[in-house]
Amino acid sequence: MSLQRKMSQELQDKTLFEKARTYAYTYINDIHEMDVFPSSESLENLKAFDEPLPTEAGSALAVLDQLNQFGGPATIAQTGGRYFGFVNGGAVPAALGVKWLADVWDQCGGLYLTSPINAKLESVCENWLQEIFGLPRDTVAGFVSGTSMANLCGLAAARYRLLKNQGWDINEQGLNGAPAIRILAHEQVHASVKKTLAMLGFGRANIEWIPSDEQGRIVVEALPPLDNTCLVLLQAGNVNTGAYDNFDSVCDQAKLAGAWVHIDGAFGLWAAAVQELKYLTKGFEKADSWAVDGHKTLNTPYDSGIILCRHQEALISALQATGEYLVFSEQRDPLLYTPELSKRSRAIELWATLKYLGKAGVDEMILGFHQRAKQLEQGLAKLGFDILNEVVFNQVLVRFEDDARTKQVIDYVQRSGEAWIGPSSWNGKVVIRISVCSWVTTEEDIRKTLSVFEQATSLPR
Ligand SMILES: *Cc1c(COP(=O)(O)O)cnc(C)c1O
Repeated sequence: MSLQRKMSQELQDKTLFEKARTYAYTYINDIHEMDVFPSSESLENLKAFDEPLPTEAGSALAVLDQLNQFGGPATIAQTGGRYFGFVNGGAVPAALGVKWLADVWDQCGGLYLTSPINAKLESVCENWLQEIFGLPRDTVAGFVSGTSMANLCGLAAARYRLLKNQGWDINEQGLNGAPAIRILAHEQVHASVKKTLAMLGFGRANIEWIPSDEQGRIVVEALPPLDNTCLVLLQAGNVNTGAYDNFDSVCDQAKLAGAWVHIDGAFGLWAAAVQELKYLTKGFEKADSWAVDGHKTLNTPYDSGIILCRHQEALISALQATGEYLVFSEQRDPLLYTPELSKRSRAIELWATLKYLGKAGVDEMILGFHQRAKQLEQGLAKLGFDILNEVVFNQVLVRFEDDARTKQVIDYVQRSGEAWIGPSSWNGKVVIRISVCSWVTTEEDIRKTLSVFEQATSLPR
């Protein structure tokens, strides 16, 4: 049988898809009993993938079976309720269901011509995001893989604009001999921002570093006078403490001076959509660009990041593709707002998540993260942990006695399989960083997690 006939049969026959569905349902049903981090046996079994590249076409079912048998047990149980590592979100069921269907569509999301539905839903999401965050109506959105890429887009737009202001076209003239841009950032910017600054040729050594306070917020008083060559980097949600910079004051100063303010709000920007928490982002709407994730706090499936920018011309010019063969349409062409050409139609899941939750659902889900984080904070304080941050949002930063004891607790919790939390460092000390970021996490999950912490504290030193 020819390969083409074989694949046609696999597509028509549907056994493959039924089986994938069955495996997926089993995973969904078992998630709460799974080890949150794979057992050493499961990790050992990943050896099953160390095999030579097949010489001949094989069986689609065998490929699926291998992934299910050896891949499934080596996953992180992130869609369960007790994964608190990094800042990883869960996945809203409505978005997962929609993604399955959209995977079958396999749309190339770059142009209106290659996917009208993706272009449409990007426009809808752009409007809804303006509305839910309370951003100016001229804000445009680009849909990228995550906040790392969104930061890159925002900073590229800023570079374009700040050089254009000085009569320099970065696209034509490049960096050689370009006028200087002053970068002002505080020590606590996320690693992805530092990476972006290096990738864009700013050079980390050229940054004017501003001190930050004990929560990781910029010290506004330490900001030097700004001018229209300045790019100021602020943060909504410090990755350790969850702290927010003082946007109101810095944005006012920047506006007067003609400087550009970019806010990295990967997970924290969503506080702006929550009635009880929006005070944290006061004045953030006066910035020039914002980077935010769907896949963290909003619980869309991966990969979903968004660049929001109130200077359409600067963003498009900075990211502009110039291939002659591109046929632009009257409609929205998604590639104008991203560095990519072919891209996943990821706005589909973002749309589904926002449409399903609505404003009230976003509010309730995200406030829930904050409430669970407070529950953890109180429980850990009772157990004798030092709480190192003001738990303003969903991050809890703690420490137990000293570095050695803290490491012992981390190790114990990680090995338990009951929950997973990661280490971080804060003021040169080993700390435990806990992020509550999934709609699945219940008060009961927090109680279970606290009891694992309790066991860890009674270990012999
Ligand atoms: C996660 C994170 C990023 C990077 O976002 P990705 O979606 O992982 O690329 C940037 N900044 C902050 C504050 C983050 O928490």
